[in-house]
Amino acid sequence: MSSYWAAYAWLPDGCHADVGFDVVEGRFVGVRVGIEPSAGAEILLGVTLPGLANGHSHAFHRALRGRTHAAGGTFWTWRQHMYALAARLDPDSYLSLARAVFAEMAQAGYTVVGEFHYLHHDQGGRPYADPNAMGAALIQAATEAGIRLTLIDACYLSGGLTATGHLPLDSVQQRFADRNVDHWQARISLMNDTDQVRIGAAAHSVRAVPAEVLRVIGEAAEEQPLHVHLSEQPAENAATQAFYGCTPTELLADHGLLGRRTTAVHATHLTDTDIKTLGSSQTSACFCPTTERDLADGIGPARRLADAGSPLTVGSDQQAVIDPFEELRGVELHERLATGERGRFTPGELIMIASVAGYRSLGWPDGGRIADGALADFVVVRSDSVRTIGSDPDQIAYAATAADIDQVIVAGRVIARDGRHQLGPAARLLAIAFDQLEAL
Ligand SMILES: [Zn+2]
Repeated sequence: MSSYWAAYAWLPDGCHADVGFDVVEGRFVGVRVGIEPSAGAEILLGVTLPGLANGHSHAFHRALRGRTHAAGGTFWTWRQHMYALAARLDPDSYLSLARAVFAEMAQAGYTVVGEFHYLHHDQGGRPYADPNAMGAALIQAATEAGIRLTLIDACYLSGGLTATGHLPLDSVQQRFADRNVDHWQARISLMNDTDQVRIGAAAHSVRAVPAEVLRVIGEAAEEQPLHVHLSEQPAENAATQAFYGCTPTELLADHGLLGRRTTAVHATHLTDTDIKTLGSSQTSACFCPTTERDLADGIGPARRLADAGSPLTVGSDQQAVIDPFEELRGVELHERLATGERGRFTPGELIMIASVAGYRSLGWPDGGRIADGALADFVVVRSDSVRTIGSDPDQIAYAATAADIDQVIVAGRVIARDGRHQLGPAARLLAIAFDQLEAL
C-alpha cells in the first residue's frame, strides 16, 4: 500500500484541500478530505487531478508537427503529407515512434489514450504474417510507456465518397483496408483486453465505410467502445447529402451506430437535428480543438451538444499539440469566440470532460476519478510555476500547460516525474524515432 496526502485534489464533487488517499493493488482506497498528512504519506503539493484521457489520437501524425505549414493548403493537402508518411512506416518504426509519442503524452499528463488505428497492412496492402503486427506495435509502445491504451481498430473499406458513390482505394489507402468487413472483424477478434489495454472498434468515417457495412460494424462491436470520425469537414456533409440524401449523423443513426458506447469524433458541422439526435442517444462527442484549428475545420457546437445530452471528451488527434489543458481551454475558448460569452463551461465541467467522460468513452468506466475503488490514475500539477502561481486551485486548468505536470501515476505506478518520462525525456525518444524514419 502507498499513502498520499494532496494539498488540493479534484474529487467527483469538486476541488478539495487536504485530501488523503491510499493506493492498494492499483486502486484508490480510503479517500478522505480535510485531514493532516499521515506518517509516511507522500506529500503532493500543487493540485492533484484524476487521470486525464486523450480520447482520440493518431500517434504517427506526430511526425508531421511543424512540417505542413509552408504552403498553406487545406485539410486535404495536409492529408497528402500524412499519406506520404503512412506509406513509409513499418512495425519497427511504428513501435519506436508510437512509444515516443505515448511517452510525450504521459509526460503531458495523459494517463490513457484512445489510439484510432487504421494503418493495418504492409506497404503493398497485404496483411503482415501477424495480421495485427501494426496494432501489436501500438500495444507494445503503450505498455512500455506505461500509459493505458484503448486500441480503436478502424474498419476502412473505400477511398472516399462523392455524389456518385464510394471511390476505390488508392495505393496508400490499401494499407488501411481489410478486404471486407468480415476480414476486419476476424482480424480484431484476434486481439484481447488486458489490465492495461482495451480493444475498441471504429468505422473510420462515412467516407471510408459504405452504409450497408455500418450496421455490421455496430453489431460486431456490441461490447466494445465504438468510435467514428463525423462531419469534420463540410465536404463530407456535401458528399453524404448528394449520395445518400441525408447528413452523416442521420446515416449513422439509421444504421444503429449511435448510443452510449459510441463516440463521434469532431462533430464539427452539425444541423440542429444532428445535435438532437446525438444528444438524445447520449452519443459522446470527442472534440480535438488544437487539431480543428490547425486544420481550419471550424468550431463545433460543444455547449449545444452537452446541453442536448452528449458527454464531451477531448483528443489530441493529429498531435499538432499534446497538452490536455490546451484541449480543454480550446473547448471553452472557441465557444467564447463563437458566442461572445465567457463561462460556457465551468472549470469543473472541463475537468470532467478530460477525466470521467474520457475514460468512459474509451471503455474504462472505473477510471477518471479519485474515489474509493476507482483505478489509481492521477496527475499532479505544479501550482508554483511562472504560469500557475497565483491561480485558484480549482481554476488551474485555465493556467497550466503540459510543462507544469509534476507527476503522472497510472495504476499506482509513477510513469513520469518532473517533466521526464520513466523511459527518458520524450524529446530524446522522439529524436531517435525520427532518425529511424529518415533512414527508411
Ligand atoms: Zn482522427
